[in-house]
Amino acid sequence: MNQWTPVAEARRLILSRIKPINGESWVPLRDALGCVLSRDIVAPFNVPGHDNSAMDGFACRAADLSAEKDTALRVVGDSFAGHPCTQSVDSGQCVKIMTGAQIPIGADIVIPQEETHTGDAGEIIIVSSERKVGTHVRAAGEDLRRGDAALSAGQLCHPAEIGLMASLGIVEVPVKRKLRVAFFSTGDELKSLGDTLIEGEVYDSNRHTLAAMLQQLGIKATDLGVVADEAAALAETLDAAAAHHDVIITSGGASVGEADFIRPVLAERGEVLFWKVAMRPGRPLAYGKVGNADFFGLPGNPVSVMVCFYQFVRAALWKRAGRIGDGMLPTIPAITLAPLKKAPGRTEFQRGIMSPKQDGNWTVRSTGDQGSGILSSMTQANCFIVLEDSRGAVTTGETVQIQPFEGLVG
Ligand code: AMP
Ligand code: MG
Repeated sequence: MNQWTPVAEARRLILSRIKPINGESWVPLRDALGCVLSRDIVAPFNVPGHDNSAMDGFACRAADLSAEKDTALRVVGDSFAGHPCTQSVDSGQCVKIMTGAQIPIGADIVIPQEETHTGDAGEIIIVSSERKVGTHVRAAGEDLRRGDAALSAGQLCHPAEIGLMASLGIVEVPVKRKLRVAFFSTGDELKSLGDTLIEGEVYDSNRHTLAAMLQQLGIKATDLGVVADEAAALAETLDAAAAHHDVIITSGGASVGEADFIRPVLAERGEVLFWKVAMRPGRPLAYGKVGNADFFGLPGNPVSVMVCFYQFVRAALWKRAGRIGDGMLPTIPAITLAPLKKAPGRTEFQRGIMSPKQDGNWTVRSTGDQGSGILSSMTQANCFIVLEDSRGAVTTGETVQIQPFEGLVG
């Protein structure tokens, strides 16, 4: 049992060998979505650029107002978004102001329209209330301060980052080059879509699963097809892939069967780590280098491919792409609705169905048969149930950790 490598140890060993890619380019703002920033983005000015109103109402001086009785103020001008008021506000005066409009000089508070009414002589009556300086005023620089790093190198550009850079007037964005990933399947029994299956053959589903998982991470990858269980073919494909890619991912042929050539072929190409990871599904896992490319040899079973991708490869791609953060899947607690089979000694990533409870917590139950070839367990599931090494059988009502599938994108 103890020659098996614990999941956390395998992950640590892989990540310690992954180096972020170099290379940067400048792309138009809209093209930066899904790219990793190669430098900090420094705010060239304050955002917002000036104190402005958070409400439609009246800008005035807080010191004029009373908590005990209503206050009458004379309107001396208007301030609209894009049309500031040049008039300053003295004691006893106010300026009519709209949301986003600049706070006039002298004013330090905005009173929302609903807390006012107009007096007989056209003056504005402010209803008595406890009021603090700065209420309903958005301070200059409260979003971003000039000279501060508004975004950090290594951050991925989501819609919010795009919008934030636009608010800074940024037209071109410094980004890391995109990762180049290649993948292929190994196995003489595999047929590509469109081919007719004869007895003993299966369609190569892993390649399509891998392509889809990579695509959801924003990675355009090269599909190198099916490679036969043959050392020379494997060696040739690996070398060609390594010349043009940062990462190579394969499925199948990673164990020690007679038709498993990943191990000997990789051994000729330098440093290779092979593990029997103490996990289920997905025990045999290979990681190594082919030239400058990182190589991941995933097991052939379709569920193992997905589990290994999300538990190991995803974080490695994250680091290789130069992203900050660890790329680990978020884990939350859930209460089991039914017993779960489990033997101590390895981590299991069971497929589960999570549902919300009325109190805001989560419950989870198994999808049923947990065989590593049963891909329908993944389509029925909406989370992994992570049962740690030391854990034995789980009874109803126990708390377990789950990783929601929602959010596996990006
Ligand atoms: P292997 O790791 O090569 O021993 O494969 C383990 C199991 O996964 C076998 O039943 C294979 O037929 C199956 N398998 C391997 N590669 C694929 C693939 N690309 N698509 C679907 N099933 C596969
Ligand atoms: Mg095989």
